[in-house]
Amino acid sequence: MSIKLRGKGVIAGVAIAKAVRLEQNLDKHVAAYIAGSVEEEAKRVAEAFDAVTDILEENVRSLKEKGLGEQAGIMEAHRIMAQDPMLRGNAINRAENGDSAPRAVLAAADESAAMFENMEDAYFRERAVDVRDVGKRIARVLLGLKGPEIGEEPVILCGEEIEPSIIANVPAEQIAGVTLGQGSTTCHAVIIAKARAIPTVVGLGSDLQNITDGAQMVINGSTGEIFVKPTEDLLKHFRIKIAEQEKLKEQYAKLRSLPAQTTDGHEVILAANISTHLDISSAVKDFGARGVGLFRSEFLFMEHNEAPDEETQFKAYKEAVEKCKGELCVIRTMDIGGDKPLPYLNIPKEENPFLGWRAIRICLVRRDVFMPQVRAILRAGVYGRAAMMLPMVIQLSEIEMVKEMIEEAKTQLAREDIPYSENVQLGIMVETPAAAVMTPMLAKHVDFFSIGTNDLVQYTLAVDRMNTNVSYLYNHFNPAILSLVKRTIDAANANGKWCGMCGEMASDPAAAVILMAMGITELSMSAPSIPRVKKMLRSISMKQAKEALDHVMRMEHGTAIREYLQKNFSLEA
Ligand code: PEP
Ligand code: MG
Repeated sequence: MSIKLRGKGVIAGVAIAKAVRLEQNLDKHVAAYIAGSVEEEAKRVAEAFDAVTDILEENVRSLKEKGLGEQAGIMEAHRIMAQDPMLRGNAINRAENGDSAPRAVLAAADESAAMFENMEDAYFRERAVDVRDVGKRIARVLLGLKGPEIGEEPVILCGEEIEPSIIANVPAEQIAGVTLGQGSTTCHAVIIAKARAIPTVVGLGSDLQNITDGAQMVINGSTGEIFVKPTEDLLKHFRIKIAEQEKLKEQYAKLRSLPAQTTDGHEVILAANISTHLDISSAVKDFGARGVGLFRSEFLFMEHNEAPDEETQFKAYKEAVEKCKGELCVIRTMDIGGDKPLPYLNIPKEENPFLGWRAIRICLVRRDVFMPQVRAILRAGVYGRAAMMLPMVIQLSEIEMVKEMIEEAKTQLAREDIPYSENVQLGIMVETPAAAVMTPMLAKHVDFFSIGTNDLVQYTLAVDRMNTNVSYLYNHFNPAILSLVKRTIDAANANGKWCGMCGEMASDPAAAVILMAMGITELSMSAPSIPRVKKMLRSISMKQAKEALDHVMRMEHGTAIREYLQKNFSLEA
Protein backbone atom coordinates (compact mmCIF):
# COMPACT_ATOMS: atom_id res chain seq x y z
CA MET A 1 0.00 0.00 0.00
CA SER A 2 1.36 3.37 -0.97
CA ILE A 3 1.56 6.02 1.76
CA LYS A 4 0.87 9.62 0.78
CA LEU A 5 2.55 12.41 2.74
CA ARG A 6 2.61 16.13 2.20
CA GLY A 7 5.26 18.70 3.04
CA LYS A 8 6.22 22.02 1.51
CA GLY A 9 7.73 21.83 -1.97
CA VAL A 10 10.66 24.25 -2.08
CA ILE A 11 12.62 23.14 -5.16
CA ALA A 12 10.57 22.09 -8.18
CA GLY A 13 10.91 18.76 -9.97
CA VAL A 14 9.91 15.11 -9.58
CA ALA A 15 12.21 12.36 -8.32
CA ILE A 16 11.70 8.59 -8.00
CA ALA A 17 14.35 6.73 -6.01
CA LYS A 18 15.09 4.75 -2.87
CA ALA A 19 15.19 6.59 0.42
CA VAL A 20 18.43 6.89 2.33
CA ARG A 21 17.65 7.81 5.90
CA LEU A 22 20.39 9.90 7.38
CA GLU A 23 20.34 9.05 11.01
CA GLN A 24 21.74 11.95 12.88
CA ASN A 25 21.52 10.16 16.18
CA LEU A 26 24.95 8.97 17.26
CA ASP A 27 23.88 7.91 20.82
CA LYS A 28 24.30 4.17 20.20
CA HIS A 29 27.84 4.64 18.90
CA VAL A 30 28.79 7.09 21.63
CA ALA A 31 27.63 4.61 24.29
CA ALA A 32 29.73 1.83 22.73
CA TYR A 33 32.86 4.01 22.45
CA ILE A 34 35.80 2.86 24.58
CA ALA A 35 37.43 5.84 26.21
CA GLY A 36 41.11 6.08 27.15
CA SER A 37 42.72 8.12 29.91
CA VAL A 38 41.68 11.74 30.43
CA GLU A 39 44.86 12.94 28.67
CA GLU A 40 44.28 10.57 25.77
CA GLU A 41 40.70 11.72 25.31
CA ALA A 42 41.70 15.40 25.35
CA LYS A 43 44.41 14.66 22.77
CA ARG A 44 41.92 12.75 20.59
CA VAL A 45 39.55 15.73 20.66
CA ALA A 46 42.30 18.10 19.50
CA GLU A 47 43.39 15.69 16.76
CA ALA A 48 39.81 15.22 15.53
CA PHE A 49 39.29 18.99 15.30
CA ASP A 50 42.49 19.24 13.24
CA ALA A 51 41.50 16.33 10.99
CA VAL A 52 38.07 17.80 10.24
CA THR A 53 39.57 21.25 9.61
CA ASP A 54 41.89 19.66 7.03
CA ILE A 55 39.00 17.79 5.39
CA LEU A 56 36.91 20.96 5.24
CA GLU A 57 39.81 22.92 3.79
CA GLU A 58 40.11 20.31 1.06
CA ASN A 59 36.31 20.43 0.51
CA VAL A 60 36.39 24.20 0.06
CA ARG A 61 39.26 23.96 -2.40
CA SER A 62 37.61 21.28 -4.53
CA LEU A 63 34.16 22.95 -4.50
CA LYS A 64 35.79 26.22 -5.61
CA GLU A 65 37.60 24.38 -8.36
CA LYS A 66 34.27 23.01 -9.61
CA GLY A 67 32.89 26.57 -9.64
CA LEU A 68 30.38 25.72 -6.85
CA GLY A 69 30.74 29.03 -5.05
CA GLU A 70 27.75 28.91 -2.75
CA GLN A 71 28.64 25.43 -1.45
CA ALA A 72 32.26 26.47 -1.00
CA GLY A 73 31.10 29.48 1.04
CA ILE A 74 29.06 27.29 3.39
CA MET A 75 31.87 24.79 3.83
CA GLU A 76 34.20 27.71 4.51
CA ALA A 77 31.85 28.80 7.30
CA HIS A 78 32.04 25.25 8.70
CA ARG A 79 35.81 25.33 8.54
CA ILE A 80 35.80 28.57 10.51
CA MET A 81 33.51 26.92 13.10
CA ALA A 82 35.84 23.89 13.32
CA GLN A 83 38.64 26.33 14.15
CA ASP A 84 36.59 28.31 16.63
CA PRO A 85 38.79 28.44 19.76
CA MET A 86 35.72 28.58 22.02
CA LEU A 87 34.18 25.41 20.60
CA ARG A 88 37.50 23.58 20.57
CA GLY A 89 38.48 24.83 24.05
CA ASN A 90 35.12 23.86 25.51
CA ALA A 91 35.37 20.33 24.03
CA ILE A 92 38.94 19.80 25.29
CA ASN A 93 37.95 21.14 28.68
CA ARG A 94 35.08 18.67 28.91
CA ALA A 95 37.37 15.79 27.96
CA GLU A 96 39.88 16.90 30.60
CA ASN A 97 37.04 16.76 33.09
CA GLY A 98 36.17 13.17 32.31
CA ASP A 99 33.84 13.14 29.27
CA SER A 100 34.73 10.69 26.51
CA ALA A 101 36.07 12.49 23.43
CA PRO A 102 32.90 12.16 21.27
CA ARG A 103 30.65 13.07 24.19
CA ALA A 104 32.78 16.15 24.89
CA VAL A 105 32.63 17.32 21.26
CA LEU A 106 28.87 16.80 20.91
CA ALA A 107 28.14 18.57 24.21
CA ALA A 108 30.35 21.53 23.27
CA ALA A 109 28.64 21.82 19.86
CA ASP A 110 25.23 21.62 21.54
CA GLU A 111 26.19 24.43 23.87
CA SER A 112 27.26 26.66 20.95
CA ALA A 113 24.13 25.72 18.99
CA ALA A 114 21.93 26.66 21.95
CA MET A 115 23.51 30.13 21.90
CA PHE A 116 22.54 30.53 18.22
CA GLU A 117 19.05 29.15 18.86
CA ASN A 118 18.43 31.86 21.43
CA MET A 119 19.13 34.62 18.95
CA GLU A 120 16.21 36.63 17.62
CA ASP A 121 17.27 36.56 14.04
CA ALA A 122 16.17 33.63 11.84
CA TYR A 123 19.46 33.64 9.93
CA PHE A 124 21.50 33.13 13.10
CA ARG A 125 19.03 30.61 14.58
CA GLU A 126 19.57 28.47 11.52
CA ARG A 127 23.33 28.56 12.09
CA ALA A 128 22.67 26.26 15.08
CA VAL A 129 22.25 23.45 12.53
CA ASP A 130 25.67 24.26 11.11
CA VAL A 131 27.43 24.07 14.51
CA ARG A 132 25.75 20.74 15.26
CA ASP A 133 26.75 19.58 11.79
CA VAL A 134 30.39 20.40 12.52
CA GLY A 135 30.16 18.74 15.96
CA LYS A 136 28.73 15.54 14.47
CA ARG A 137 31.38 15.51 11.79
CA ILE A 138 34.12 15.65 14.40
CA ALA A 139 32.36 13.03 16.56
CA ARG A 140 32.05 10.72 13.53
CA VAL A 141 35.81 10.87 13.06
CA LEU A 142 36.27 9.92 16.72
CA LEU A 143 33.76 7.09 16.42
CA GLY A 144 35.34 5.79 13.22
CA LEU A 145 32.04 6.28 11.32
CA LYS A 146 31.85 7.13 7.65
CA GLY A 147 29.27 9.42 6.01
CA PRO A 148 26.04 8.00 4.53
CA GLU A 149 26.42 4.97 2.32
CA ILE A 150 25.44 6.24 -1.11
CA GLY A 151 26.09 3.92 -4.01
CA GLU A 152 26.00 4.42 -7.75
CA GLU A 153 22.20 4.70 -7.94
CA PRO A 154 20.78 8.15 -7.19
CA VAL A 155 18.87 8.30 -3.91
CA ILE A 156 16.48 10.55 -2.05
CA LEU A 157 18.14 11.81 1.12
CA CYS A 158 15.73 11.93 4.06
CA GLY A 159 16.38 13.30 7.51
CA GLU A 160 15.07 15.50 10.26
CA GLU A 161 17.76 17.99 9.29
CA ILE A 162 20.52 17.13 6.87
CA GLU A 163 24.03 18.37 7.29
CA PRO A 164 24.65 20.83 4.43
CA SER A 165 28.11 19.28 4.06
CA ILE A 166 26.53 15.97 3.06
CA ILE A 167 24.54 17.51 0.21
CA ALA A 168 27.51 19.61 -0.86
CA ASN A 169 29.87 16.66 -0.98
CA VAL A 170 27.80 13.94 -2.61
CA PRO A 171 28.05 14.28 -6.42
CA ALA A 172 24.87 15.93 -7.73
CA GLU A 173 24.02 12.99 -10.00
CA GLN A 174 23.77 10.71 -6.95
CA ILE A 175 21.11 12.80 -5.21
CA ALA A 176 17.71 12.52 -6.89
CA GLY A 177 15.88 14.44 -4.19
CA VAL A 178 15.86 15.68 -0.61
CA THR A 179 13.15 15.51 2.07
CA LEU A 180 13.47 17.11 5.46
CA GLY A 181 11.40 16.81 8.63
CA GLN A 182 12.26 20.42 9.39
CA GLY A 183 13.81 23.00 7.09
CA SER A 184 12.83 26.19 5.32
CA THR A 185 13.76 27.96 2.13
CA THR A 186 16.59 29.76 3.90
CA CYS A 187 18.25 26.80 5.62
CA HIS A 188 21.63 26.01 4.15
CA ALA A 189 20.79 22.47 3.10
CA VAL A 190 18.07 23.94 0.87
CA ILE A 191 20.30 26.75 -0.42
CA ILE A 192 22.81 24.14 -1.60
CA ALA A 193 20.15 21.88 -3.08
CA LYS A 194 18.74 24.86 -4.99
CA ALA A 195 22.05 25.74 -6.60
CA ARG A 196 22.11 22.12 -7.82
CA ALA A 197 18.41 22.09 -8.84
CA ILE A 198 17.63 19.02 -6.66
CA PRO A 199 13.86 18.52 -6.11
CA THR A 200 13.22 19.16 -2.42
CA VAL A 201 10.31 18.91 0.03
CA VAL A 202 10.66 20.22 3.59
CA GLY A 203 8.54 20.48 6.73
CA LEU A 204 7.32 16.86 6.91
CA GLY A 205 7.35 16.90 10.70
CA SER A 206 6.56 13.60 12.37
CA ASP A 207 5.40 12.16 9.01
CA LEU A 208 9.07 11.60 8.31
CA GLN A 209 8.80 8.44 10.42
CA ASN A 210 6.76 6.85 7.62
CA ILE A 211 9.82 6.85 5.37
CA THR A 212 11.93 3.77 6.03
CA ASP A 213 15.49 3.35 4.87
CA GLY A 214 15.61 1.74 1.42
CA ALA A 215 11.89 2.24 0.68
CA GLN A 216 11.07 3.33 -2.83
CA MET A 217 9.51 6.78 -2.96
CA VAL A 218 8.36 9.59 -5.21
CA ILE A 219 8.73 13.25 -4.32
CA ASN A 220 7.23 16.19 -6.14
CA GLY A 221 9.11 19.37 -5.25
CA SER A 222 6.52 21.53 -7.01
CA THR A 223 3.50 20.35 -4.99
CA GLY A 224 5.13 19.02 -1.81
CA GLU A 225 3.59 15.55 -2.37
CA ILE A 226 5.46 12.43 -1.32
CA PHE A 227 4.49 8.80 -2.00
CA VAL A 228 6.25 6.05 -0.07
CA LYS A 229 6.09 2.61 -1.73
CA PRO A 230 4.12 4.02 -4.70
CA THR A 231 1.74 1.80 -6.69
CA GLU A 232 2.54 0.87 -10.29
CA ASP A 233 -0.04 3.39 -11.52
CA LEU A 234 1.57 6.20 -9.55
CA LEU A 235 5.00 5.22 -10.79
CA LYS A 236 3.76 5.27 -14.36
CA HIS A 237 2.25 8.72 -13.88
CA PHE A 238 5.41 10.18 -12.37
CA ARG A 239 7.75 8.49 -14.87
CA ILE A 240 5.91 10.40 -17.59
CA LYS A 241 6.46 13.60 -15.61
CA ILE A 242 10.17 12.85 -15.29
CA ALA A 243 10.41 12.16 -19.01
CA GLU A 244 8.81 15.56 -19.67
CA GLN A 245 11.24 17.13 -17.21
CA GLU A 246 14.21 15.56 -19.00
CA LYS A 247 12.96 16.71 -22.38
CA LEU A 248 12.66 20.22 -21.03
CA LYS A 249 16.22 20.08 -19.66
CA GLU A 250 17.52 19.01 -23.07
CA GLN A 251 15.66 21.87 -24.70
CA TYR A 252 17.10 24.27 -22.13
CA ALA A 253 20.65 23.04 -22.72
CA LYS A 254 20.26 23.77 -26.43
CA LEU A 255 19.22 27.33 -25.62
CA ARG A 256 22.39 28.07 -23.64
CA SER A 257 24.25 29.99 -26.31
CA LEU A 258 21.20 31.41 -28.13
CA PRO A 259 20.01 34.97 -27.50
CA ALA A 260 16.84 35.70 -25.49
CA GLN A 261 15.23 37.02 -28.64
CA THR A 262 11.60 37.10 -29.72
CA THR A 263 10.45 35.61 -33.04
CA ASP A 264 10.57 39.16 -34.49
CA GLY A 265 14.09 39.89 -33.30
CA HIS A 266 13.68 41.85 -30.07
CA GLU A 267 16.35 40.89 -27.51
CA VAL A 268 16.38 41.15 -23.73
CA ILE A 269 19.63 40.64 -21.77
CA LEU A 270 19.29 37.78 -19.27
CA ALA A 271 21.85 38.14 -16.47
CA ALA A 272 22.53 36.34 -13.19
CA ASN A 273 21.94 37.24 -9.56
CA ILE A 274 24.91 36.05 -7.52
CA SER A 275 26.03 36.20 -3.91
CA THR A 276 29.70 35.43 -4.46
CA HIS A 277 32.11 35.94 -7.34
CA LEU A 278 32.60 32.16 -7.32
CA ASP A 279 29.07 31.65 -8.74
CA ILE A 280 29.74 33.41 -12.04
CA SER A 281 31.54 30.68 -13.99
CA SER A 282 28.66 28.25 -13.61
CA ALA A 283 26.06 30.97 -14.35
CA VAL A 284 27.81 31.80 -17.63
CA LYS A 285 28.91 28.29 -18.63
CA ASP A 286 25.90 26.22 -17.57
CA PHE A 287 23.04 28.68 -17.96
CA GLY A 288 24.24 31.19 -20.53
CA ALA A 289 24.02 34.26 -18.28
CA ARG A 290 25.03 37.49 -20.00
CA GLY A 291 26.87 39.07 -17.13
CA VAL A 292 25.67 39.83 -13.62
CA GLY A 293 22.65 42.01 -12.94
CA LEU A 294 22.91 41.80 -9.16
CA PHE A 295 25.98 40.91 -7.13
CA ARG A 296 24.68 40.86 -3.55
CA SER A 297 27.95 42.11 -2.08
CA GLU A 298 26.68 41.98 1.50
CA PHE A 299 27.42 38.22 1.57
CA LEU A 300 31.10 39.12 1.36
CA PHE A 301 30.57 41.17 4.51
CA MET A 302 28.57 38.41 6.23
CA GLU A 303 31.27 35.77 5.68
CA HIS A 304 33.73 37.53 7.93
CA ASN A 305 33.88 38.56 11.58
CA GLU A 306 34.82 42.08 10.54
CA ALA A 307 34.31 44.20 7.45
CA PRO A 308 36.44 42.84 4.58
CA ASP A 309 39.18 45.35 3.75
CA GLU A 310 39.51 47.15 0.42
CA GLU A 311 42.03 44.63 -0.93
CA THR A 312 39.81 41.61 -0.15
CA GLN A 313 36.86 43.32 -1.81
CA PHE A 314 38.91 44.47 -4.78
CA LYS A 315 40.07 40.89 -5.47
CA ALA A 316 36.48 39.56 -5.33
CA TYR A 317 35.06 42.31 -7.58
CA LYS A 318 37.97 42.12 -10.03
CA GLU A 319 37.44 38.38 -10.43
CA ALA A 320 33.70 38.94 -10.86
CA VAL A 321 34.20 41.63 -13.50
CA GLU A 322 36.75 39.53 -15.38
CA LYS A 323 34.53 36.45 -15.36
CA CYS A 324 31.72 38.45 -16.98
CA LYS A 325 33.86 38.48 -20.12
CA GLY A 326 32.88 41.86 -21.52
CA GLU A 327 29.32 41.82 -20.20
CA LEU A 328 28.28 44.18 -17.43
CA CYS A 329 28.83 43.23 -13.77
CA VAL A 330 26.47 45.17 -11.49
CA ILE A 331 27.82 45.23 -7.95
CA ARG A 332 25.23 46.27 -5.42
CA THR A 333 26.78 48.11 -2.51
CA MET A 334 26.20 46.29 0.76
CA ASP A 335 22.55 45.84 1.62
CA ILE A 336 22.88 45.08 5.31
CA GLY A 337 19.96 45.30 7.73
CA GLY A 338 16.41 44.00 7.26
CA ASP A 339 16.81 40.20 7.31
CA LYS A 340 20.58 40.46 6.84
CA PRO A 341 22.17 41.55 10.11
CA LEU A 342 25.87 42.13 10.60
CA PRO A 343 26.88 41.73 14.26
CA TYR A 344 30.10 43.73 13.96
CA LEU A 345 28.22 46.85 12.83
CA ASN A 346 26.32 46.90 16.11
CA ILE A 347 22.97 47.74 14.54
CA PRO A 348 20.69 48.41 17.49
CA LYS A 349 17.66 46.14 17.87
CA GLU A 350 14.82 47.64 15.89
CA GLU A 351 11.05 47.15 15.96
CA ASN A 352 10.82 47.24 12.15
CA PRO A 353 14.22 46.35 10.70
CA PHE A 354 12.92 46.45 7.10
CA LEU A 355 11.98 50.09 7.70
CA GLY A 356 15.02 50.77 9.78
CA TRP A 357 18.70 51.43 9.53
CA ARG A 358 19.61 49.39 6.47
CA ALA A 359 21.43 49.46 3.16
CA ILE A 360 22.39 52.91 1.85
CA ARG A 361 21.33 54.45 5.17
CA ILE A 362 24.09 52.53 6.96
CA CYS A 363 26.65 53.23 4.23
CA LEU A 364 26.17 56.98 4.38
CA VAL A 365 26.73 57.00 8.14
CA ARG A 366 29.48 54.37 8.32
CA ARG A 367 31.82 55.92 5.76
CA ASP A 368 34.68 53.94 7.29
CA VAL A 369 32.96 50.76 6.05
CA PHE A 370 31.56 52.17 2.79
CA MET A 371 34.57 54.08 1.41
CA PRO A 372 36.72 50.92 0.97
CA GLN A 373 33.85 49.37 -0.99
CA VAL A 374 33.53 52.40 -3.28
CA ARG A 375 37.29 52.38 -3.90
CA ALA A 376 37.34 48.61 -4.50
CA ILE A 377 34.56 48.84 -7.12
CA LEU A 378 36.24 51.76 -8.93
CA ARG A 379 39.48 49.77 -9.03
CA ALA A 380 37.77 46.59 -10.27
CA GLY A 381 36.30 48.63 -13.14
CA VAL A 382 39.75 48.66 -14.76
CA TYR A 383 39.37 44.93 -15.54
CA GLY A 384 36.09 44.96 -17.48
CA ARG A 385 32.63 46.55 -17.35
CA ALA A 386 31.56 47.33 -13.80
CA ALA A 387 28.58 49.13 -12.34
CA MET A 388 27.80 50.29 -8.83
CA MET A 389 24.19 50.00 -7.66
CA LEU A 390 22.70 51.59 -4.53
CA PRO A 391 20.00 49.76 -2.56
CA MET A 392 16.97 51.23 -0.76
CA VAL A 393 17.20 54.73 -2.20
CA ILE A 394 14.29 56.99 -1.21
CA GLN A 395 15.59 60.46 -2.06
CA LEU A 396 17.97 62.26 -4.42
CA SER A 397 20.33 63.41 -1.67
CA GLU A 398 21.42 59.80 -1.13
CA ILE A 399 22.61 59.61 -4.73
CA GLU A 400 24.28 63.00 -4.47
CA MET A 401 26.14 62.01 -1.31
CA VAL A 402 27.42 58.83 -2.94
CA LYS A 403 28.54 60.81 -5.99
CA GLU A 404 30.57 63.06 -3.71
CA MET A 405 32.16 60.02 -2.11
CA ILE A 406 32.96 58.58 -5.53
CA GLU A 407 34.73 61.82 -6.49
CA GLU A 408 36.62 61.78 -3.20
CA ALA A 409 37.63 58.15 -3.76
CA LYS A 410 38.90 58.96 -7.26
CA THR A 411 40.98 61.87 -5.93
CA GLN A 412 42.49 59.60 -3.26
CA LEU A 413 43.24 56.82 -5.74
CA ALA A 414 44.85 59.23 -8.21
CA ARG A 415 46.99 60.66 -5.42
CA GLU A 416 48.03 57.17 -4.36
CA ASP A 417 48.78 56.25 -7.98
CA ILE A 418 46.32 53.34 -7.88
CA PRO A 419 44.55 52.62 -11.20
CA TYR A 420 40.75 53.04 -11.28
CA SER A 421 38.10 53.32 -13.95
CA GLU A 422 36.25 56.48 -15.01
CA ASN A 423 33.60 54.33 -16.68
CA VAL A 424 31.93 52.62 -13.74
CA GLN A 425 28.20 53.18 -14.20
CA LEU A 426 26.15 54.36 -11.22
CA GLY A 427 22.61 53.10 -10.82
CA ILE A 428 19.99 52.57 -8.15
CA MET A 429 17.69 49.79 -7.13
CA VAL A 430 14.12 50.93 -7.53
CA GLU A 431 12.73 49.00 -4.60
CA THR A 432 10.87 51.62 -2.59
CA PRO A 433 7.63 53.25 -3.70
CA ALA A 434 9.33 56.64 -3.16
CA ALA A 435 12.04 55.86 -5.71
CA ALA A 436 9.55 54.40 -8.18
CA VAL A 437 7.31 57.47 -8.00
CA MET A 438 10.29 59.80 -8.45
CA THR A 439 11.94 57.90 -11.33
CA PRO A 440 11.17 60.63 -13.92
CA MET A 441 13.30 62.99 -11.84
CA LEU A 442 15.90 60.47 -10.59
CA ALA A 443 16.58 59.19 -14.12
CA LYS A 444 18.52 62.39 -14.84
CA HIS A 445 20.98 61.62 -12.05
CA VAL A 446 21.87 57.97 -12.68
CA ASP A 447 23.03 55.70 -15.50
CA PHE A 448 20.44 52.99 -14.90
CA PHE A 449 17.65 51.59 -12.75
CA SER A 450 17.19 48.01 -11.61
CA ILE A 451 13.78 47.22 -10.20
CA GLY A 452 13.95 45.23 -6.96
CA THR A 453 10.48 43.77 -6.84
CA ASN A 454 11.13 41.68 -3.71
CA ASP A 455 11.14 44.85 -1.65
CA LEU A 456 9.04 47.00 -3.97
CA VAL A 457 6.13 44.56 -3.58
CA GLN A 458 6.53 44.36 0.20
CA TYR A 459 6.70 48.14 0.67
CA THR A 460 4.00 49.05 -1.85
CA LEU A 461 1.48 46.45 -0.75
CA ALA A 462 2.46 46.62 2.95
CA VAL A 463 3.01 42.85 2.91
CA ASP A 464 6.00 41.49 4.86
CA ARG A 465 7.96 39.35 2.38
CA MET A 466 8.89 36.89 5.16
CA ASN A 467 5.41 36.43 6.67
CA THR A 468 3.59 33.32 5.42
CA ASN A 469 0.27 34.51 6.91
CA VAL A 470 0.05 37.29 4.35
CA SER A 471 1.89 35.64 1.48
CA TYR A 472 -1.40 35.25 -0.41
CA LEU A 473 -1.38 39.04 -0.85
CA TYR A 474 2.17 39.15 -2.16
CA ASN A 475 1.55 39.41 -5.90
CA HIS A 476 3.85 41.14 -8.37
CA PHE A 477 0.90 41.42 -10.77
CA ASN A 478 -1.04 43.69 -8.43
CA PRO A 479 -2.00 46.69 -10.65
CA ALA A 480 -0.18 49.05 -8.26
CA ILE A 481 3.08 47.17 -8.88
CA LEU A 482 2.59 47.00 -12.65
CA SER A 483 1.93 50.73 -12.69
CA LEU A 484 5.14 51.53 -10.73
CA VAL A 485 7.19 49.11 -12.83
CA LYS A 486 5.91 50.67 -16.06
CA ARG A 487 6.51 54.18 -14.73
CA THR A 488 10.13 53.26 -13.93
CA ILE A 489 10.83 51.70 -17.32
CA ASP A 490 9.19 54.65 -19.13
CA ALA A 491 11.23 57.15 -17.09
CA ALA A 492 14.49 55.37 -17.92
CA ASN A 493 13.71 55.11 -21.62
CA ALA A 494 12.55 58.73 -21.85
CA ASN A 495 15.91 59.85 -20.44
CA GLY A 496 18.08 57.57 -22.56
CA LYS A 497 18.98 55.35 -19.59
CA TRP A 498 18.55 51.61 -19.32
CA CYS A 499 16.29 49.76 -16.92
CA GLY A 500 16.64 46.21 -15.61
CA MET A 501 14.92 44.10 -12.98
CA CYS A 502 16.66 41.93 -10.38
CA GLY A 503 13.77 40.98 -8.06
CA GLU A 504 12.12 37.55 -8.26
CA MET A 505 9.50 38.86 -10.71
CA ALA A 506 12.25 38.80 -13.36
CA SER A 507 12.41 35.00 -13.16
CA ASP A 508 8.69 34.56 -13.83
CA PRO A 509 8.38 33.70 -17.56
CA ALA A 510 4.83 35.09 -17.77
CA ALA A 511 5.99 38.38 -16.22
CA ALA A 512 8.93 38.53 -18.64
CA VAL A 513 6.46 38.81 -21.53
CA ILE A 514 4.90 42.05 -20.32
CA LEU A 515 8.17 43.45 -18.96
CA MET A 516 9.67 43.09 -22.40
CA ALA A 517 6.64 44.81 -23.91
CA MET A 518 7.10 47.66 -21.42
CA GLY A 519 10.63 48.14 -22.79
CA ILE A 520 12.87 46.55 -20.14
CA THR A 521 16.50 46.12 -21.21
CA GLU A 522 17.70 43.42 -18.82
CA LEU A 523 16.25 40.74 -16.53
CA SER A 524 18.49 39.34 -13.81
CA MET A 525 17.70 36.17 -11.85
CA SER A 526 19.20 33.12 -10.15
CA ALA A 527 21.05 31.36 -12.96
CA PRO A 528 18.96 28.13 -13.11
CA SER A 529 15.89 30.27 -13.96
CA ILE A 530 17.48 31.77 -17.09
CA PRO A 531 16.60 28.95 -19.55
CA ARG A 532 12.86 29.05 -18.71
CA VAL A 533 12.63 32.80 -19.24
CA LYS A 534 14.67 32.52 -22.43
CA LYS A 535 12.43 29.78 -23.74
CA MET A 536 9.37 31.96 -23.17
CA LEU A 537 10.83 35.02 -24.85
CA ARG A 538 11.98 32.99 -27.85
CA SER A 539 8.50 31.56 -28.31
CA ILE A 540 6.61 34.86 -28.68
CA SER A 541 6.65 38.01 -30.81
CA MET A 542 6.83 41.59 -29.60
CA LYS A 543 3.39 42.13 -31.14
CA GLN A 544 1.89 39.35 -29.00
CA ALA A 545 3.62 40.70 -25.90
CA LYS A 546 2.33 44.24 -26.54
CA GLU A 547 -1.22 42.96 -26.98
CA ALA A 548 -0.95 41.09 -23.67
CA LEU A 549 0.43 44.20 -21.98
CA ASP A 550 -2.39 46.36 -23.34
CA HIS A 551 -4.87 43.85 -22.05
CA VAL A 552 -3.46 43.48 -18.52
CA MET A 553 -3.01 47.23 -18.04
CA ARG A 554 -6.77 47.52 -18.43
CA MET A 555 -7.48 44.72 -15.93
CA GLU A 556 -8.38 45.58 -12.33
CA HIS A 557 -7.53 42.48 -10.29
CA GLY A 558 -3.98 41.24 -9.65
CA THR A 559 -5.11 37.63 -9.31
CA ALA A 560 -6.96 37.82 -12.64
CA ILE A 561 -3.86 39.27 -14.31
CA ARG A 562 -1.78 36.41 -12.97
CA GLU A 563 -4.30 33.84 -14.22
CA TYR A 564 -4.59 35.49 -17.63
CA LEU A 565 -0.83 35.58 -18.18
CA GLN A 566 -0.24 32.08 -16.85
CA LYS A 567 -2.98 30.70 -19.08
CA ASN A 568 -1.76 32.46 -22.21
CA PHE A 569 1.97 32.16 -21.64
CA SER A 570 2.51 28.76 -20.11
CA LEU A 571 5.77 26.97 -20.84
CA GLU A 572 4.43 23.49 -20.34
CA ALA A 573 1.50 23.98 -22.73
C1 PEP B 1 14.81 43.11 -4.24
O1 PEP B 1 14.46 43.72 -3.22
O2 PEP B 1 14.04 42.86 -5.19
C2 PEP B 1 16.19 42.63 -4.38
C3 PEP B 1 16.61 42.08 -5.50
O3 PEP B 1 17.02 42.74 -3.32
P1 PEP B 1 17.00 41.74 -2.05
O4 PEP B 1 16.13 40.56 -2.40
O5 PEP B 1 18.42 41.39 -1.81
O6 PEP B 1 16.40 42.61 -0.99
MG1 MG C 1 15.89 44.50 -1.80
